[in-house]
Amino acid sequence: MPKTYQFDHLLSADGWLSPSCVTVEDDGMISAISKDPDSTAEKLSGACVPGMPNVHSHAFQRAMAGLTEIGGGTENNFWSWQTVMYDFLAALGPEDVEAIAAQLYVEMLKGGYTSVGEFHYLHHGPGGKTYSDPNEMSNRIFSAASQTGIALTHLPVLYAQGGFGGQPPLDGQKRFLHDIDSFARLVTELQARCRSLPGIETGMAFHSLRAVSPEMMSEILKFITDGPVHIHIAEQMREVTQCVEWSRQRPVEWLFEKQHIDNRWCLVHATHMTEVEIALLAKSGAVAGLCPSTEANLGDGLFSLSEYIDQSGVFGLGSDSNTSVDAADEIRLLEYGQRLLLQQRNISAAGDGHSTGASLFQSALQGGAIALAQPVGSLKTGVRADMIILDTDHPVLAGRSGDAILDTWIFAGGRAVIKDVFAAGHRVVCEGRHWDEDRIANTFRQAICRLRY
Ligand SMILES: [Zn+2]
Repeated sequence: MPKTYQFDHLLSADGWLSPSCVTVEDDGMISAISKDPDSTAEKLSGACVPGMPNVHSHAFQRAMAGLTEIGGGTENNFWSWQTVMYDFLAALGPEDVEAIAAQLYVEMLKGGYTSVGEFHYLHHGPGGKTYSDPNEMSNRIFSAASQTGIALTHLPVLYAQGGFGGQPPLDGQKRFLHDIDSFARLVTELQARCRSLPGIETGMAFHSLRAVSPEMMSEILKFITDGPVHIHIAEQMREVTQCVEWSRQRPVEWLFEKQHIDNRWCLVHATHMTEVEIALLAKSGAVAGLCPSTEANLGDGLFSLSEYIDQSGVFGLGSDSNTSVDAADEIRLLEYGQRLLLQQRNISAAGDGHSTGASLFQSALQGGAIALAQPVGSLKTGVRADMIILDTDHPVLAGRSGDAILDTWIFAGGRAVIKDVFAAGHRVVCEGRHWDEDRIANTFRQAICRLRY
């Protein structure tokens, strides 16, 4: 049976409607949005805005959040963090990964994300031993998503070598490795499986130019011709330098010359680009997958946002290492990085008189929907009812209307003002609590105790 909800305020594809009714079909899709009150509707106070797609996550890394903030060492940067991460994941088994991902996805829903792109490279057991079911780890991610209600775009990752030019893998990378045949089989099987799982899509990813040879990349793209393609790129200056030494080209430059890059692609980070590379990416329609909290945490650098936006570049937001799991945090940090760099305010506003929060929110929403190939975006007929209800009774939102609601949530209120969350029309978070959060948190705690972090 279709269900109709009436909200005090709703951010629709046509702007703010106050009040507004949304009708959701059994399949979770919106069939009507109306300004007219409906006496049969369930009335919910608050401001309804679309749920944010999260384009880039490594779920298992959530369990190491807070464990890498120690000073010292001969170098303390992305590369030393990566070594710690390889040590950390050595003991993780399938049950642990499922428990960590389920806990993370609950936190994502409570933080304003209603879909997630899981960039998944932890495929095998310790030492690289293949599980009896090679899809074991992916199935655990599917299970975590299904338990929580978050929509998932699963992105199994091709990781085949230890560095540019076919360097042998390190011991810590052995759990990630595939050759062309085993990877093609994995993606094909996962694509078939996800057809029967509502809200779950399967794309694919190349870990980075470091981890895949040019020949492998071309072979796989000939074989897998649909679904999103994601790649880490130009995150760190050392990576750019190594790429130039290997190919005489910078990473983004190299990728655009060797492959046809269009809106099927999501280039994660793309932090270090020249003006020419920025123009190439902006013109291509590919999505830049920006992860401001992780990029800050790892000391990556700042994305050239204003130049990119000026050229109508498309971007989405990701929580990546999941140190922060809060959509408002990512938007705020994206803008604040630019303010600190340029010593100006409201860098990302779409023009004079436009709200900075709304400009960033709408852009990230559209870019996220493209990168995840999910039927989401601005609320209108035909999109999935992924909706966040902001608590307009919260003191920080007192007297706010229109885009000031978004600006206050993003710059002042944060996740504390998220009251309810709907995923595919189901209210999975009610009054700030996920319906199954106690069980999922207990399972997570048991996993962490077993792992003795
Ligand atoms: Zn990443």
